[in-house]
Parts: sequence; C-alpha cells; structure tokens
Amino acid sequence: MSPRFLIIGQGLAGTALAWRLWERQVPFLIVDRNEAVTCSKVAAGLITPITGMRLTVSWRYDVFYREALRFYRACGKRLQQRFFFPRGYVRLLKNEPEIAKWHKRRRDPDMQPFLHRQAPGLNSDVFHDPQNGFQQRHAAWLDTTAYLKASRGFFESLNSCTTADVKPSDVRDDAEGVGWSGQRFSHVIWAQGWSAEKHPLFHWVPFQSALGTILTVKADLRGETRILNRGCWLLPRNDGTLRVGSTYEWQFNDPNTPSADQVQKLEATLHSLLKAPAQITAAQTAVRPIIKNRQALMGTHPTHPRVAFLNGLGSKGSLRSPWLARHLIEHLLDGTTIDAEMDLQQNSI
Ligand SMILES: Cc1cc2nc3c(=O)[nH]c(=O)nc-3n(C[C@H](O)[C@H](O)[C@H](O)COP(=O)(O)OP(=O)(O)OC[C@H]3O[C@@H](n4cnc5c(N)ncnc54)[C@H](O)[C@@H]3O)c2cc1C
Repeated sequence: MSPRFLIIGQGLAGTALAWRLWERQVPFLIVDRNEAVTCSKVAAGLITPITGMRLTVSWRYDVFYREALRFYRACGKRLQQRFFFPRGYVRLLKNEPEIAKWHKRRRDPDMQPFLHRQAPGLNSDVFHDPQNGFQQRHAAWLDTTAYLKASRGFFESLNSCTTADVKPSDVRDDAEGVGWSGQRFSHVIWAQGWSAEKHPLFHWVPFQSALGTILTVKADLRGETRILNRGCWLLPRNDGTLRVGSTYEWQFNDPNTPSADQVQKLEATLHSLLKAPAQITAAQTAVRPIIKNRQALMGTHPTHPRVAFLNGLGSKGSLRSPWLARHLIEHLLDGTTIDAEMDLQQNSI
C-alpha cells in the first residue's frame, strides 16, 4: 500500500515525526492520550551546547542545533507563532576544582564556536557570586507547550490527529501493513516516551528513565533575560515567570507528584544562585525517557518491519527531535541507513 503512517504519541518525538511527514506530503494520523502533564509539556525546552559537570560540548551539537533552528523557525512561520528563542546562556562555576577544569577546557578547539567573547557581567544585587563563569553562544529555549498545542491544532485541522489511549494489542501488523481502529496504515511508529517500557514488542530496550522535577518561580531579575546555571538552571520566560530545574531520580514510586525533598533541594540550590527574593508558584514532575548509554534509538522492530520506534530523547528532546524524526522518516520512506549509534536493531540487548 502507499505510505500512510500511524504515530502513537504527540510529545516532542511524535510531533516532529508528524511534521516531517507533512513536509513530504505523506498522510498520517497521530494519536495521543492528551494528558495534562507529560514529559514534553513539563520540559523547560533548553538547548545548550556546553553541558554537565565535565564541561564538554554536547554530542553532534552543531548538526542537531542547525537542524532544530531551521525546523522550529519553519514551524513557527507555518503556524504564525513564535516558540523558539535563541538566548545567551551563562554558566557560573561552582568551586575551585570546577574553575580549574574550565581553565583547562576553555582553549579546546571544539569549544570555540560556542564561547561568547564578553564576560557574563551579571548584576551582583540579583545573583550571588556572579564573577566566575562564561557565556555560551548558540543556546536557545523552546516553548514546548506552545509548540505542541499549536502543532496539535494544525494536525486536527487536517483531520490527522485524534485522542485515544492506544493498546498495543489493538494495533495489528502483517506483511502488507498495519490496522488500528478499522483503519489501514503502511507503518506504525511508537513515539510514546517512557510508556514504551511496558510495550510488549519493546520490553527488551534497556530503558533507564528518570523522574524530573521543575519549579515555576516569580522573582525580579532586573531585566536579565539570559539562561543561567550553577547547580540548577534558571530560565527567564517571556511571560515574566522563571523555570528552575531540574532533578534526576532514578528510583521512584509516584511519577505524577513532586516529592517534598526534591522541591526543597531545588529551592536551596536556587537560593544559592539568586540573591533576589523568589516565590515558588508551582512544582511539576514527569519521567524523561532515557535509554542506557543516554542514546536515542530508532528504527523498525527486528521481526515486525511495519512497526517502528523513536525513543530515548532523554534531556535533549528539544534539540534532537527534528534531526531524529527526519532521519527515521527517510529510513522508512527512502531506505536510507540509520546511524549505527542510533539504530534500534544494532543496539538491542
Ligand atoms: C523536569 C524535566 C525538564 C526537562 N527539561 C528539558 C529541557 O530543558 N530541554 C529538553 O530538550 N528536554 C527537557 N526535558 C526532556 C524532554 O522533555 C524529553 O526529551 C521529551 O519530552 C521526550 O519526548 P517524547 O515525545 O519522547 O516523550 P513524551 O513527552 O513522554 O511523549 C509521549 C506522548 O505519548 C503519549 N502516549 C504514550 N503512550 C500512549 C498510548 N498508548 N496511546 C496514546 N498516547 C500515548 C503520552 O501521553 C505523551 O503525550 C525535560 C524533562 C523533564 C521531566
């Protein structure tokens, strides 16, 4: 049959897949539970080049970033709404060992495209110890809630989006295609975030998902609009609120309720960064879909060629989903090869 795709999940992964199909004029139906709180809706949407304790450039950042920039700008144009915002990103260094590490790393050639020449110049009335740090270029944030909502509205206007909780046993595949709810498709792509841990066809994928908590905060930063980081990150959003995050919990019982100790931990880190008074107005929690080795995986199931998978976006869904989605769609439509590092079949344990 001619290509027609069923996509399960309208998070960052499923939404980017749907857009990639729309760009190629291939029909699709995207189905989502439409839950109020999901990983993609809770995310701060940060896109930052130099990350982590080791102060290294994120894997293939330039490739992913260039594609994300083009993709979100094109989506914004189509939907006549802006949800992608390039921003300066200031990383403040915590202590002497971190400062020493930075002095070693700062001359590395791979760092140079991402370093701003100017010192951060933060207001010492607003921030504690703002002296030691550096500013990064080519960082941004994505308003994920606005992007997902506007995309959903657009897909609905095409009759290509519906709300349902899809049971894996209701999706039948054979050599010719896939059936669900009385409709036929050429392929199904499961892009369902951490719920895939319970999918009978994908239970062997080595998920190591982590619960994350994020705060919404009110504080007067006296006009500071850059993203800041020391121990936690602080995102000044365009609506005047701040997002502060985020935690990683590898063992958790309740994925829906922020635990008091995680909120307190974030609050304490925030106060070590921010001198200005701050009021927490909300706390949210969701599960990041992480796969062992922190690599996103995609491709078709080893014995079900009509059943595909895109998952493991970890904490980089905003950055990587546009590139990953294009790569997977090209594989399914044109037969291109999936990069070995991200090929589901080559990384199955
Ligand atoms: C606190 C926190 C902060 C974060 N901050 C950032 C950040 O700053 N930058 C960044 O890039 N990333 C961030 N992330 C990570 C980012 O959110 C993830 O990379 C991304 O959301 C994963 O997207 P996904 O589409 O794979 O999964 P999800 O967002 O989980 O989407 C899956 C969708 O599938 C639906 N679904 C699942 N099963 C079914 C079914 N059977 N039938 C129908 N629908 C189904 C779900 O309802 C959901 O809508 C953060 C995450 C957390 C938790």
